[in-house]
Amino acid sequence: MGEKYTIKSWRCPTEKKPDFSARFDFEPTTKFFDQLSFIGDPAVCCFLLETTEGLVLIDAMNPEQRYMDAIVKGIRDTGYELTDLKHVVISHGHGDHYGLADELRKASGAKIYLFEGDHELAKKPMGPFAPMDYPVDVYLTDGMDLCFGDTVIHCVETPGHTDHCMSFIFPVTDEGRPHMASLWGGTGLNYGVNMFTYLKSVDKFELACADYRVDVEISNHPPVDNGIERLNVVRNITNGVPNPFVIGQENMHYYFNKFRTMCSEALKIWPDGIARPQMPGAPEKEKDCV
Ligand SMILES: [Zn+2]
Repeated sequence: MGEKYTIKSWRCPTEKKPDFSARFDFEPTTKFFDQLSFIGDPAVCCFLLETTEGLVLIDAMNPEQRYMDAIVKGIRDTGYELTDLKHVVISHGHGDHYGLADELRKASGAKIYLFEGDHELAKKPMGPFAPMDYPVDVYLTDGMDLCFGDTVIHCVETPGHTDHCMSFIFPVTDEGRPHMASLWGGTGLNYGVNMFTYLKSVDKFELACADYRVDVEISNHPPVDNGIERLNVVRNITNGVPNPFVIGQENMHYYFNKFRTMCSEALKIWPDGIARPQMPGAPEKEKDCV
């Protein structure tokens, strides 16, 4: 192997032993692949993807200063400046995902990407979030490939959580080992979600993930997939310890089955397939949906 194969390590030195007994202390930035970092908190997060064409941010969290500070810190922690941010790709038109998009665009010059139908949704008042009353630079479409330097993000429209929720598939490496990551843009059964539409999207995205040999899943709401616990492992990981976000192609089916089970339980309560506020954990009313 020549020097050109040198990989910049993100893992702790092996002499630093993992301490899984440590109390969970949430750091806003965690690098967990060679070019992918988590930024956020246990409620909501975004992902910073490093490419040869600059930085890509997938989602932009709530419009709160502490989240803006976390993004700026996260970019600096990974060795970049805010002006290196070139693209802000939004999964769907809820304010906890597009919240800081415009502020980031103004600060960095980055372009904003979102499905047109969800831009229309985001223009309407919803809960505590300001409407998205500003333009989107690029409208996403189903099957679109976003080519950012050496990285291609494949977009899959997965309606359900919102009418035009977008999910993404893109390559990552872990200490040089290639993997394919998936991010389902919206997993919650909010007020008014049509569960039959949602279930079709589960099938659609699972097939797309199989086509792309996806073996990594991440979520923009960490509680959905034990992301918090897995990040805690990642923060103490050493060489030789499997990355807990690499679940393997064969286990993707079990990940998707979690959502099928969630829907089948909800259908027992609402056989017409429309989620209502009484759903455990669901928002009290439509305007609170996120
Ligand atoms: Zn949402």
